[in-house]
Amino acid sequence: MAKIVPAQYQPPLPLDKLILQDGAAGAGDRMELDVLIVGAGPAGLACAIELSKLAKADRTELNIGVLEKAEALGEHSLSGAVVNPRALRELFPDLPDADFPFRAPVIKEAVYLLTAESKWRLPTPPSMRNHGNYIASLCEVVRWLGSKAEALGVNIFTGFPAAQLLVRDSAVAGVRTVPAGLDREGKPTPGGTPPNDLVAKVTALAEGTRGLLGQAWCEWQRVPSENPQLFALGVKELWETKQPLDRVIHTLGWPLPRDAFGGSFVYPLEPNLVALGLVVGLDYRDAALDVHVLLQQFKQHPLLRALLAGGERIEWGAKTIPEGGFYSLPERRSGAGVVLLGDAAGFVDVPSLKGIHYAVQSGMYAARAIFQNLKNGSALTEYDRLVNASYVAHDLYRTRNMRLAFRDGFYLGGFQAALMTLTGGRFPGGRYRMHEDAEVARRVSPVAPASANGISKVDAVFKSGNATRDTIPSHLIAAQAVPGDVARFYLHMCPAGVYEATENGLRINAPNCVDCKATDVLGPRWTPREGGSGPKYKRM
Ligand SMILES: Cc1cc2nc3c(=O)[nH]c(=O)nc-3n(C[C@H](O)[C@H](O)[C@H](O)COP(=O)(O)OP(=O)(O)OC[C@H]3O[C@@H](n4cnc5c(N)ncnc54)[C@H](O)[C@@H]3O)c2cc1C
Ligand code: SF4
Repeated sequence: MAKIVPAQYQPPLPLDKLILQDGAAGAGDRMELDVLIVGAGPAGLACAIELSKLAKADRTELNIGVLEKAEALGEHSLSGAVVNPRALRELFPDLPDADFPFRAPVIKEAVYLLTAESKWRLPTPPSMRNHGNYIASLCEVVRWLGSKAEALGVNIFTGFPAAQLLVRDSAVAGVRTVPAGLDREGKPTPGGTPPNDLVAKVTALAEGTRGLLGQAWCEWQRVPSENPQLFALGVKELWETKQPLDRVIHTLGWPLPRDAFGGSFVYPLEPNLVALGLVVGLDYRDAALDVHVLLQQFKQHPLLRALLAGGERIEWGAKTIPEGGFYSLPERRSGAGVVLLGDAAGFVDVPSLKGIHYAVQSGMYAARAIFQNLKNGSALTEYDRLVNASYVAHDLYRTRNMRLAFRDGFYLGGFQAALMTLTGGRFPGGRYRMHEDAEVARRVSPVAPASANGISKVDAVFKSGNATRDTIPSHLIAAQAVPGDVARFYLHMCPAGVYEATENGLRINAPNCVDCKATDVLGPRWTPREGGSGPKYKRM
């Protein structure tokens, strides 16, 4: 059977474009800040909030800026989400949980193993127990954190994607933003604006999953990790249902093939407002596997069919998750003038599908290290020390091989993961070595793959609120020519229908992109495009 290895068709990271000397020609305005944070997710906003609290307590003036590529706060935020409130309690010690922007506490939960028509209830594994946690929409959490940050005097610049790292010698000096108003060929149009330079004493990269500037910094500074980072793609829908749901549900098994790692989540934000999604590791072996199509099949299972009958889909979206865990963390997450936070550093525990409280916590630790750095010149390595000594590193170490065991398939992986749980992560000792997702070979099957019985990708993109201008230049860097099998692999990989396999090869409908970043893991490279492009999530 024919096989393709995606890495063979993936252009390298364009490091020569991503790393720019500070002062290089071509910028419009230049702004000087004390601290610049790239990305207004939970990590970046928690960092901004903690920093301004520390500055206020010390009666110090700090000029803090946060850059966000979405047009408004939360519009590019997507998660499950069941949130562990631990880090938010530390960030806001005076607030009771009732004041956090959560929708409901987790009261009941169930884990099922599915076949196409049946379900078996499994005992809830310790990592998936969620009593004490809360169901939330990440968009709402981000908007709330943003309002807290602004009330403390933080400047949040939405609609401003960072495109390049500005550097002086081996230090990060800030970023250059993406120009706006270019035509399809990349030429300025009347009314367009050139890129701006934002320079700062410290730049915090909180860009989330598969962060472009974080990747560039690690490659430029040769910061290794024991394993490469691994990714999963999550496709999610929000439904108003006629039937109420009273519990958090996770499922394993169908509709995933046995050689793919993943599962589903079904979370009631309100009894009749349900978030559901499917998460699949991007090291799947079948070139025709399509996570969007699998989610449509999943909704046909009797468990979901009954819940969704008569209901209405409100939103759709997709995003990747860094799921390599402990061994995929960069050896250091700090350097001269820079720190890496949250998903950009890889702080996600996949067995429990949790990253939000690690993102918030890493943001707070970064703020403390940055504040000391600005005040008395102490090294930013303090940030690594704080993370390494905390529950963030401890939790990830305990589950260090669990996701990795599934490289051996669902049943063998599940058996090993159970032993790891029983032994607190000590079985089997050592480290499972992993390949980059793009280096995993994919089977090309002559059998036509199942089609999406449900919402099409085009309609799904509409439900994401995507309002990208049709006439912007493509932000996706593809190989000069790819064989038909590879074009079809991209077609299935992308949940938003960006890639089409044509007689002449690959057609790219770039404006459809919802910035999930799967393409950057397995296919053409993703780069940030004009501010405000992409989805407009409301309650994802
Ligand atoms: C399907 C799915 C389900 C999940 N379920 C859960 C769950 O139930 N519980 C849980 O705790 N975690 C869950 N997670 C993980 C959790 O969402 C992440 O760990 C968390 O959002 C990470 O926060 P962050 O601030 O690091 O990154 P993000 O939340 O991704 O925020 C990064 C921000 O940076 C912006 N940005 C990116 N690049 C640029 C740029 N170049 N310039 C300017 N801005 C930029 C993005 O637009 C975004 O707003 C889930 C994730 C997914 C995808
Ligand atoms: S083009 Fe890439 S980043 Fe954009 S939606 Fe498709 S897979 Fe995701």
